[in-house]
Parts: sequence; structure tokens; C-alpha cells
Amino acid sequence: MIIYTSDLCLAHNMGAQHPECPERLGVILQALKSSRIAQQLTYATPDLLTLTAAAAHDNNYIKHLVQLERLGETTALDPDTLFMAETLTAARAAAGAGVSAIDAIMSEQTQQAFAAVRPPGHHALHNRAMGFCFINNIAVAAHHAMTHYGLERIAIIDFDVHHGNGSENIVANDPRILLCSAFQHPFYPNTDLAQAADNIVHIPLAAGTAGTEFRQAMQQLAFARVKKFTPQLILVSAGFDGHRRDPLAGWNLVDDDYFWLGATINQLAKDYSHGRVLSMLEGGYALDTLGGSVLAYIEGLLS
Ligand SMILES: [Zn+2]
Repeated sequence: MIIYTSDLCLAHNMGAQHPECPERLGVILQALKSSRIAQQLTYATPDLLTLTAAAAHDNNYIKHLVQLERLGETTALDPDTLFMAETLTAARAAAGAGVSAIDAIMSEQTQQAFAAVRPPGHHALHNRAMGFCFINNIAVAAHHAMTHYGLERIAIIDFDVHHGNGSENIVANDPRILLCSAFQHPFYPNTDLAQAADNIVHIPLAAGTAGTEFRQAMQQLAFARVKKFTPQLILVSAGFDGHRRDPLAGWNLVDDDYFWLGATINQLAKDYSHGRVLSMLEGGYALDTLGGSVLAYIEGLLS
């Protein structure tokens, strides 16, 4: 398992009170490095995403970000989504991790990779930043796997507590992709559930949802669809803000649920996608539990 991470992801800082903070990566890396699976992990620094590789996004939106970077002033692109001089480089490192990981997986250097990166990506729309996200890391990775390696069936599993609306916005109606997103509902970003395209699976779950109900829903609605789809590659938007201690949302998942997700996804990958899984960090804001949750998930992937 290769862990992709970059110090460039730390320079984007939206303020001391903002939950999407650089310390998130520190607690994850500390948990991994002091764990009993430490010997099974290798670390790599991603290449920065080239702006032409950002083709999952509208070209004018990317140009707009480049102009903002040149201005160097802090700008709110969304009420809680601040862009500053360091943001685009951090976002290019985060999305670049997906591209570097796809290259490593497709060249059989590794079967599995985890991108411990920020800013997260799954709320970023085709032409707009949203919800702490600027570039849609998982959509860029999927786009790279399709355009460079000709993959025709990619499953994206999104278990962040928030709906992956940006990913849906970018991949809707692309028959090469199946996107299954579980999310607290009703809740931010308040997606209209009636509008889903054929390649999109919504798994709305109420506040208070805990492990038994969550696992049942994932099995019946997400993983059953993934099996029928027979993916060549599995991508995971791995958000850990469904944890019961997370301050931003209301699910009651625990580390054992993340272990179960990792183990189940690993088995799916073995059965259908030559073991290939790329997971990319999305949310997860409880600094005292985030590291343990990510570790449990990766232990599951390695089980
Ligand atoms: Zn989230």
C-alpha cells in the first residue's frame, strides 16, 4: 500500500477556527506511522496536477483559479471555502496524488493506494468551488484512468457523511462510471434526490445512523450495484466525518465500521478489479479520532 501525501497540502490554511485544517493530515500520518501495519506502508510524494490534467473541470474555472492565485489575496469562493495564495498549489498536490496513484496502480507498482491529502474534493463542481473543495480529486483520478488507460468501468464509492454532489455533477451520465454515495439526509449540501442519473446511486441515511443500519444499506444499495457493474478499478471518496465523535455531522459510526468498509472494499477489489483500489481522503474533522478511523479503514483494506 502506497500512502501519497505532500507538505504542500499543509500550506492551505483557512484559519484557526476552520475544521478543515492542516492538522488533519498530521494526526493521520502519526497514527499510521506508529501502528502495527507501519511496515506494510510506503510513502510517496505526488506530482503536482498539471492544469491540462484538470480536464474534469471547466477550463474557464481553472483559469479563474490561476488568476486568483496571481492576485494572492484571500477570497471566499463559498461562505466556508477560502482561496488564498497557497490554495491552488495545495489543491494541485491533492489532485496530483490521485493521478500519481493511478499511474502506480496501472503500472502494477502497487494494487492499493491511499491519498492523505487536502483540500478535499467531492463537493467541487465542474465549474465551481464548494464546501471546502476546489478541485475534485476523485473525479480527476477517474478522468485520468479513463483517458490515459482506457478504463471503461470505474466504481466510485463515497462514504463521507456529506453527499458527493460535486462528483455527481461531473460524472453524471458517463456510462464508464458508477458513483455510489452514502450521506446523511436531510443535510448539507441538500441535493435534490429526484434528479439522479442512471449511473448514480444515492444512499440517504438519517442523522443518528449507526453501524448496523449503515452496513446493511451499503451492502444492499452500494456493493450489490458495484458487483453487477464489475468494475476494473475502485475509487473511494473516504470521508470519516460519519464518526460519532465528529463535530460536523450526526451519524454514529465507529472505527470498527471503517475497518468493515476497508475489508469489504478490499474483497470487492479482489473479486472484480484485480485488487485495484485508490482511496482519497475527503472529510473527517475530529482530530482526536480521525487518525484511528483512517488506520482502521486501511487495516481493513489490508486484511
Ligand atoms: Zn464530509
